[in-house]
Amino acid sequence: MEKSINQLCNEAYQIAKSKGWHDKPRETGTILALIHSEVSEALEADRKKDQENFEEELADILIRIFDLCGSRNIDLEDAVLTKMERNKGRSYRHGNKAY
Ligand SMILES: [Mg+2]
Repeated sequence: MEKSINQLCNEAYQIAKSKGWHDKPRETGTILALIHSEVSEALEADRKKDQENFEEELADILIRIFDLCGSRNIDLEDAVLTKMERNKGRSYRHGNKAY
């Protein structure tokens, strides 16, 4: 069974909530720092050429984002689709940026 992005957000939030991660209000900056920590873990896994761990860390990034959106009632599905449509209209390499 396929799940929508917003279903995954709600599920990630419910799991985190059941594990006590939402017993107290969480600052957005803390959550973003934790998302960033997962990005760093993915970087380290890639540096070690550990593909399995790399994929796991990519999943951790999304799970933390899903949890954030689930806990704040953010319609991530709509935000992603809206931004992807906007990206289609952007210029080549977004104005010839180096990277
Ligand atoms: Mg991790």
